[in-house]
Amino acid sequence: MTIFGKRRGFKPFLETSPNKSRLMKHTELHIGINIYEYTELDEADRRLVDLACEATERSYSPYSHFRVGAAARLADGTVVSGSNQENIAYPSGLCAERTTLFYAGSRYPEQAVDTLAIAARNEKGQLTEKPTPPCGACRQVMLECEARHRRPMRILLYGQQGIYELKDVESLLPLSFQADNMKA
Ligand SMILES: [Zn+2]
Repeated sequence: MTIFGKRRGFKPFLETSPNKSRLMKHTELHIGINIYEYTELDEADRRLVDLACEATERSYSPYSHFRVGAAARLADGTVVSGSNQENIAYPSGLCAERTTLFYAGSRYPEQAVDTLAIAARNEKGQLTEKPTPPCGACRQVMLECEARHRRPMRILLYGQQGIYELKDVESLLPLSFQADNMKA
C-alpha cells in the first residue's frame, strides 16, 4: 500500500507498507460484446451503419488516409453523421466520433445519443475487415455524452467480418474518471 501525505515541514512523502508484495485483493473487469453479421441487425441499425459507412466518403484525411465515419441516432430518432477531419498540424484535426458527437450536442443539446455507429476505410478505400474502436480521447467524450444525458449510449463498431455491439461507453472505458471521483 502506498500512502501520500504530509509530514515534517509539509514535504510530501511516500510510504510503502512492509507487506508490499502481498496481494490484498484482486478484481477483474469483464465487458460484453455481441457480434453480429450485417444481415442480423434490425433495419434501423442497418441504416445507421450504412450512414457511418457513407460518412467515411466525406472524410478529410490526406495524411493518414484512414477514412472514418460515424453516425449517431438520437433519442428522438434524429440521425447525424460525421467524419474525421485532419490538419497538417495534427492535433488541430478531429476524429469522426467527436465531430459527430459535438455536432449532435451543439445542434440538438436536449437529445441523448441512443446509438453511435462507427466505420472506417483503409488506405485502399475498402471498408475494414475488423471493427474500428474509438481512440481514448473519443471514449472520454463519449462518456461525457452519456453522463450529460444520464443515459447509456449503445455502440456499433462496423467490420466486414462482424459488427461489435457494446451496450454502453463504460464497456469501452472501464474504470473511467467520472464526476463522482472528485467527491470521494
Ligand atoms: Zn478519436
